[in-house]
Amino acid sequence: MTSPGSESPDTSNADIRPTSNFLRDRMAEDVRTRKYGDAHVQTRFPPEPNGYLHIGHAKAIFLDFGLADEFGGKTNLRFDDTNPEKEEQEYVDSIQKDVRWLGYEWERLCYASDYFGQLYEWALQLIRTGKAYVDDLSADEIRQYRGSLTEPGKESPHRSRSVEENVNLFQRMKAGEFPDGSRVLRAKIDMASPNLNMRDPVMYRILHATHHRTGDEWCIYPMYDYAHGQSDSIERVTHSMCTLEFTDHQPLYRWYIEQLGIFPSQQIEFDRLNLTYTLLSKRKLLQLVQEGRVNGWDDPRMPTISGIRRRGFTPEAIRAFSASIGVTRTNGTTDIELLEHFQRDDLNRRARRAMAVLRPLKLIIDNYPEGQVEHFEVVNNPEDPAAGTRQVPFSREIYIEQDDFREVPPPKYFRLSPGKEVRLRAAYFVTAQSVVKDAAGNVVEVHCTYDPATRGGDSPDGRKVKSTIHWVSATHALSAEVRLYEKLFATANPGDAPEGGSFLDNLNPNSLEVLASAKLEPSLASARVEDRYQFERVGYFCLDPDSSETRRIFNRTLPLKDSWAKIEKKTGA
Ligand code: ATP
Ligand code: MG
Repeated sequence: MTSPGSESPDTSNADIRPTSNFLRDRMAEDVRTRKYGDAHVQTRFPPEPNGYLHIGHAKAIFLDFGLADEFGGKTNLRFDDTNPEKEEQEYVDSIQKDVRWLGYEWERLCYASDYFGQLYEWALQLIRTGKAYVDDLSADEIRQYRGSLTEPGKESPHRSRSVEENVNLFQRMKAGEFPDGSRVLRAKIDMASPNLNMRDPVMYRILHATHHRTGDEWCIYPMYDYAHGQSDSIERVTHSMCTLEFTDHQPLYRWYIEQLGIFPSQQIEFDRLNLTYTLLSKRKLLQLVQEGRVNGWDDPRMPTISGIRRRGFTPEAIRAFSASIGVTRTNGTTDIELLEHFQRDDLNRRARRAMAVLRPLKLIIDNYPEGQVEHFEVVNNPEDPAAGTRQVPFSREIYIEQDDFREVPPPKYFRLSPGKEVRLRAAYFVTAQSVVKDAAGNVVEVHCTYDPATRGGDSPDGRKVKSTIHWVSATHALSAEVRLYEKLFATANPGDAPEGGSFLDNLNPNSLEVLASAKLEPSLASARVEDRYQFERVGYFCLDPDSSETRRIFNRTLPLKDSWAKIEKKTGA
């Protein structure tokens, strides 16, 4: 079955695959030894629909889909929807959209809630074989009885209930006879196990909550550990990859499957992606959204897939990044600059160039004929000849960046200043002559002269200039709002709260700067949301989806400077 929806996946970089790793080795070995006979490699990506996907999930998606594909296998998208209070259809929808946008198409769309009936039957089966019992202890008591890493647990007084009584109580739990939290179903394993997860873990809890898919059909819900392995088994998942925090749950994963004698899915753990200056926890990201610290899940400062998409990141770069970080069995932290490096690399190759002035200063060319307009041909992308060229209009009044002029130039300042000559990109050499200031003494206009012999940007007498600056013709300019983003957090490990504070104290107060009166070359009128641009000398930009005919908004994806190259040199990474 292919999944519904109109968006087609972007598979243009589908050849990027996970680099050599132990997950692949394990799969290769299982295929070689025919561990699963004729069954194909089957994986699943199992998000809980309690938030939007983030860049950490992209790593898991890359491995689940990428490795299965490599072995001719298949991948399901399965919603792990066993917590009705936290889950919503909005999240289900966004997750599907994000997986497709990353370039992957699932074999089947599944929900743990599809299996609620089967899981219930299996629970009865475990009760009947004496492997599960209904417990009346409160959540607190269960915790106390569980013991600790140094002390064995204590058996619940209800542990020895008869099979008949357990069946009866469990059926009545399902029928809604008992209030929330009054009883649970537990597996009967070993209260002295060194693994706390094996000390009679809870299988079912009572929760009178409306589920986003099953509505009010159920008032008992399975716990993650009871649902996950069996869901894998039902889907005949051969390799169930998850992050390292589930390592201690693996014995329980296997125990349920063995007791039930069902398809032997196997769990394999790998390291979570952590990124500097970035929080990858749906719970904390939800808090940022709910408290209005950001403008929604898709705020371009968010590490969510929808946020970085809106910011202008590309699936190709995310896949290349995911491939480069590899997988290990120890958690570490990756520099955010590495992700940015892959993004710049992709944009440098593919983004169309354009001229845009973010903080405009008027430059008037006194000796250029009034009313005259010339068009200069510029290449759209020096990295990609196929991208062609375009015509950029030039006239007597243009905008340049405020930073490209200094009335009193500091040492080593080679841009425009009185008496100094620079090249206007693809146009002419100009020399600044005089300035006009406002009442406060700020330069508001610069007057200059141009040399007609330098048309196209080269001087026939071999005269050199030290700088080339970009510009936009004032009469042709489009106005735009430009949003410059910086890191959302000011500290490298934002999850570490300062003493007596919370992770919110680590927020960077200057993560967004809005420039209201940027000037763009007119070709940008045709920009669409999915287009990517390099504004020459400034950075990479894309149109924000909130833009309209009357209000054009561009997001800065990244500035041009690649700080990863520096880090790489320093650390020999
Ligand atoms: P969060 O704490 O952000 O809610 P989660 O692990 O609870 O993350 P799930 O929806 O349960 O989120 O995750 C779906 C899959 O993605 C799981 O297999 C999980 O191991 C994996 N995953 C989640 N976060 C990361 C990460 N930072 N790096 C790699 N894989 C991840
Ligand atoms: Mg989770």
